[in-house]
Amino acid sequence: MFKLNGKTAIITGGASGIGLAISETFARAGATVHILELNAELAQMAADRLTAEGATVLVHGVDVSKQAQVIETINSITSQGRVHILVNNAGIAHVGTVETTTEADFDRVFNVNVKGAYNCLYATIPHMKASGGGVILNMASVASSVGISDRFAYSMSKGAVLTMTLSVAKDYLKHNIRCNCISPARVHTPFVDGFIAKNYPGQEEEMFSKLAASQPIGRMAKPEEIAALALYLCSDEAGFATGCDYPLDGGFIRLNN
Ligand code: NAD
Repeated sequence: MFKLNGKTAIITGGASGIGLAISETFARAGATVHILELNAELAQMAADRLTAEGATVLVHGVDVSKQAQVIETINSITSQGRVHILVNNAGIAHVGTVETTTEADFDRVFNVNVKGAYNCLYATIPHMKASGGGVILNMASVASSVGISDRFAYSMSKGAVLTMTLSVAKDYLKHNIRCNCISPARVHTPFVDGFIAKNYPGQEEEMFSKLAASQPIGRMAKPEEIAALALYLCSDEAGFATGCDYPLDGGFIRLNN
């Protein structure tokens, strides 16, 4: 079950954290993986490790917030053959309330988290329509549907990812394109370590424990645990799954009381 042999997947932000785990999992499940990454050097290190295992992983240095770059790259990939799977995973964090979110902060978060996903959809969907269908998976967050303090711009951007998922799922049902999103609670990745270091210098250990404890299960998720659900949702076994948000949250949404 859950094999991706013969499938080609585009994964954004595949050099680190959740995107890296998804790239590894999909490549090991038999997919040809194209990683679209700002940090192409780091992505290439992952691609080299996977290639040594016998997998096929190609890296494209792309800023997903730049539409021309995304279109050029995705067109070059689709010109070589069918793309079956798109995973919109690249995302950035921001800590702040409305009062401490500058216009530049707001634009940066929306350009990557919202416009970046839209750019990849814009470039990929016509190809999927023309080639008989496909699967799209977006990386949302528990912040898409639950108020999280001090995450004004980030939460709004992830709310948009959730509703973008519903819109695409509905519009392309008849084109055999499934579209879902995963909403993780805290996952231990460089994204988390980075924003703790940046926003809580000197209190890193205390903040890490606090963030781990905010999941009722008592820890953060591992990236591999998110990748396992991503593999299921992008596999043929999930053929009945579309238009859904899948929280993977250690009880964060429903058991935090
Ligand atoms: P990460 O920082 O470890 O990895 C993100 C990757 O995206 C990096 O390799 C980065 O270079 C790449 N990236 C960033 N901006 C880009 C751009 N403009 N173009 C191309 N690539 C770009 O992050 P992560 O924790 O693995 O998070 C991945 C996704 O999961 C994000 O969308 C994030 O919002 C979401 N998420 C993370 C958590 C968490 O706790 N880690 C929880 C819920 C949702």
